[in-house]
Order: sequence, then structure tokens, then C-alpha cells
Amino acid sequence: MIQGFLDFLTPPDVSSAPVVARASAPPPGYARAGEDAPRQPDVLFERSARAERYRLTLRKDGVAVATIPARGTEREAMVFVEQHRDWLERARARQRLRPRAAEVWALGTQVLWRGEMAEIRQAVAGERPCVCLAADVFRVARLDGNLRPTLEAHFLRKAKVELTARTWELAAETAMEVKEVMVRNQRTRWGSCTTGGLISLNWRLIQAPDTVRDYVIYHELMHLKEMNHSARFWRRVEEVCPPWREAEVWLKRNGAMLGL
Ligand SMILES: [Zn+2]
Repeated sequence: MIQGFLDFLTPPDVSSAPVVARASAPPPGYARAGEDAPRQPDVLFERSARAERYRLTLRKDGVAVATIPARGTEREAMVFVEQHRDWLERARARQRLRPRAAEVWALGTQVLWRGEMAEIRQAVAGERPCVCLAADVFRVARLDGNLRPTLEAHFLRKAKVELTARTWELAAETAMEVKEVMVRNQRTRWGSCTTGGLISLNWRLIQAPDTVRDYVIYHELMHLKEMNHSARFWRRVEEVCPPWREAEVWLKRNGAMLGL
């Protein structure tokens, strides 16, 4: 059993936090059964038996979702959405500004690689087709079509070697006792650790700048001493990784580029 498992989640983007409101009983005669209220085309209404409040969120794909609580009505949900139009517009504007990764990767696509945006270029290397990103060369089966699955598989392989080696290096530097390092595909976190000394890292950290990668590793290493996010924990992080605040800002700003 894993004990004392601690997630290191990217802090939520506070400015995009969903808005919520208490459900109130519908006013008498307000919504008649079978009445098909006109819907806002850009907002999806979802009923939730577990929700206690009206809630408006903006999904990563740009669709706004209004949650209707168990005791709520669609009509009230629409009023709620109208009341929060300004919030939704601001959230949409922020989403447009936030850097996103391209879905399909082809020659010429800009990809985040080792902390920099690098263009996927055709490489001249023998007879087999290859592409390069900055100084790294990757073999691909073919140059047309979506290169993303092949390249991400290469990234994962490199990440397993490099992130693991770096973790052992920083563990030695900070005299922390690590039992095992795992590099995985984690959808919601950059890293995690257990009291047993297992450190797990998100392979996508290989796309981040070295300073950010090191910060996440230091962060997990310090959790081996402090399994919490107390002031003591942050003092330890500060001691071993003074630029941790800038790294946090980078992760917050660029998380979407890495699929988080
Ligand atoms: Zn943490």
C-alpha cells in the first residue's frame, strides 16, 4: 500500500475559477413542465444530482458548461448564466491568450522542447526519415501525417532516462534517500512522492526549462522530509531551490502547453 501519497498539483488558475451559486426553489409557475426554453448556443446545460449550486465553468475546449443542481431548473440556470456573462467573456478572453499546444504536429509546427519553442524540421540523417527539434534528432516512420504520437513516444523514452538520472543526482546533492524513481504519463500532476521514497515524475517535464524540471524534483525531494505544504516545507524548498517562485509561475502559465 502506498502511504502518505502526496500530489503536487498545478495550482488552480484562480482567475478562471468557476462561479457558483446556491440553488433556490423555483418560483411558482416560473418553469412549466415540458416547456422547452431556448438555449444559449455557446453554453451546455448539464443536470447534476450531486451539485448543490448552479455552477458555470469554461472547459479547455472552449465550451461553457452550466451545471443545474438537483433542485434547480434550466430556466434559473439560464438566468444564472446571464448574470455571469461578463465572467464568461473574461474567461474566454483569458483562454484565447493562454498558450496552447498544437493538436496535430507536422513539419513546421512549433513544439515546446526543453523549455523553448522549437520548429519541427526535417533532418538529414541517413536513409531513414528523421526530424529534429533544436539539437535533438528523432527517427520517424514517415514525414507526412501527424508526427505527434511518434515524437511524444520519443520524448517519453528520453524523459525516462534523463529525468530519472537528474532525480538521483539531486537526491545525492540534497542527501535525500530515494528508493525508486518513476517517469510516467500523468495527466493532472507534475510529480508526486510517497513516504516510502518513491518519486514519480510527469514525463512532460522534459519539455520544460531545466530550472522548472529541477524545481519539481527538488519539490518532491523536500516532501520526503515534510509531507505537507507547510511553511517549513517551503523554507526547505527555498534553501535548495531559490528560484522556485519563477518556476511555479512558469508552470502556471505554460501548463496548458504541456497538456495540463
Ligand atoms: Zn507538493
